[in-house]
Amino acid sequence: MATERDYYEILGVNKNASADEIKTAFRNLARKYHPDVNKTPEAEEKFKEINEAYQVLSDTDKRAAYDRYGRAGVSGMGSGFDYSAVDLSDILGDLFGFGGFGGFGGSRTRQRNAPRQGADLQTVVTLQFEEACFGVEKEIQFARDEKCSRCHGNGAEPGTSPQRCSTCNGTGEVKTSRQTMFGSMVQVATCPTCGGRGEMIPTPCTQCHGRGLERKTVKKIVAIPAGVDTGTRIRMSGEGQPGENNGPNGDLYVDVKVNPHRFFRRHDFDIQLDINVNISQAALGDDITVPTVDGSEKLKIPAGTQPGKVFTLKGKGVPYLRSNGRGNQKVIVNVVIPSNLTAEQRDLLEQLAPTLGTEVIPQEKSFWDRIKDAING
Ligand SMILES: [Zn+2]
Ligand SMILES: [Zn+2]
Repeated sequence: MATERDYYEILGVNKNASADEIKTAFRNLARKYHPDVNKTPEAEEKFKEINEAYQVLSDTDKRAAYDRYGRAGVSGMGSGFDYSAVDLSDILGDLFGFGGFGGFGGSRTRQRNAPRQGADLQTVVTLQFEEACFGVEKEIQFARDEKCSRCHGNGAEPGTSPQRCSTCNGTGEVKTSRQTMFGSMVQVATCPTCGGRGEMIPTPCTQCHGRGLERKTVKKIVAIPAGVDTGTRIRMSGEGQPGENNGPNGDLYVDVKVNPHRFFRRHDFDIQLDINVNISQAALGDDITVPTVDGSEKLKIPAGTQPGKVFTLKGKGVPYLRSNGRGNQKVIVNVVIPSNLTAEQRDLLEQLAPTLGTEVIPQEKSFWDRIKDAING
């Protein structure tokens, strides 16, 4: 408490000043006397005084106590302050934009050299139908940056080493002073010589030209779980671009694409299969064999099976991706009408025909609607 001057007088406002007026007055003075800006010997003391006044007048309770009792009224109210807690960037932010002033308290310096995660990468793996069903280990190839094998990542030709940057003396940043209406301003910028790394490479590595990284085609085995489908995305943690400043690597995203199967069609975790039976199989019934992803299965076609009839082979579908169990196989029956009859077949059908009658009865539900109901049901 270096001063006994009146707080209102210190801030240059009158006793009836509004909160906004007090704030504006404080900001204007703070810009002028903040020790980061103003290097004159009086500045620090002046700034403390301004800040002390503001701590009291910006607080409704403290201001009321001060108005009634003066300094005695606020001495017990924790009016102690710490000017270093007042961030000049905050005060100046609205005037110049935050980005214009870096380096106060070193916060920007820490950010620039902070560990940063590498970028994520993406690639595609193409699978056969059965591979997507049951899972598979697949080799994938993709390009990513890896530590240069010649310089081991430091960018310097073997036998030489990186040197501390003489422009910034290894700090990665340069400070410039300029005169403004608020006094001398220190501006901190990334060192133009070294780009902020703090070191220079006098003899760059001939393989990576000083980058320390080289593009490589990487081969990895990706474990594809059972049940994936086109659109499934598999994350390989840490297989992306290398991190900077010892930050973690990015991730690799592997997008699954499944080639269509000759017979099987996927419907979520069910597999659809169309089969053709002839008119006598449909009319009289038959025991037939159908393919499934597990091999051949017996299927009983009952007498009187209609076209579009759907049979369900339970548990013969695709394994669920995130839980136990499997979908079903749906077998859709198509009845093939013979078109190239032998003389004998023609005779037999002609004998049959009059017994079936000629009445035409409209169908209530369409063929495709019935199939849709059977598949979704
Ligand atoms: Zn290299
Ligand atoms: Zn430098």
